[in-house]
Amino acid sequence: MGRKRLQAILFGPQGCGKGTQGQLLSDRFGIPLFGSGDMFRAEIEANTPLGSLVKEYVARGMLAPDEVVNAIFKKRLKEIVSEKGFLLEGYPRNVDQAESLDRLVKINLAIHIKISDEEAVKRLMGRRQCVFCRSIFHIEEAPSALPGRCALCGHPLIKREDDREDIIRQRLVAYHFMTEPMAAYYRKQGVLLVVNGAQPIPFLFEELIRKMARLGFVA
Ligand SMILES: [Zn+2]
Repeated sequence: MGRKRLQAILFGPQGCGKGTQGQLLSDRFGIPLFGSGDMFRAEIEANTPLGSLVKEYVARGMLAPDEVVNAIFKKRLKEIVSEKGFLLEGYPRNVDQAESLDRLVKINLAIHIKISDEEAVKRLMGRRQCVFCRSIFHIEEAPSALPGRCALCGHPLIKREDDREDIIRQRLVAYHFMTEPMAAYYRKQGVLLVVNGAQPIPFLFEELIRKMARLGFVA
């Protein structure tokens, strides 16, 4: 009783571990985690007009415009907002989207996972993905038990096409320009929580849980 309902978003640069932390938080708090990718996929599979718009942008390697993304989120809000709360990852991705989200539902925790560009590059360059089950390993931090192969299903591990240094750096520039200003936006609202992403997964999770507890979010 008296437990605060979590209505949270999670953001940080690629490679900061937000997907993993999101999953851990979702399990710990028993709340659904929604990634923007899941929302897009669901919309595309449902063959809606919004879905086909997204599909066009994705096919051209572009980000869907804010209006489209906001419209999709608004439509799926009912599925997202559960009694216990929710956790969003990948949406919002800029201040305009954050403002749109605010008009629909109040965010009471914005988790910002920070890592340096150098750390992000190092992590992404060492990433290897299973061609079959898409599990992700890291040559140093989380090596597969089977050299060169997926420890879960035995299929080969490959370096993803977009895990190239020039592409990673371009994406980091875009992140600093587009997404990072959300930190100031949420700080002004008094809901920003910053954690250090440059530490092993369990330590990062520990820091997150400890800081959340101080704010009254207890699993
Ligand atoms: Zn696999």
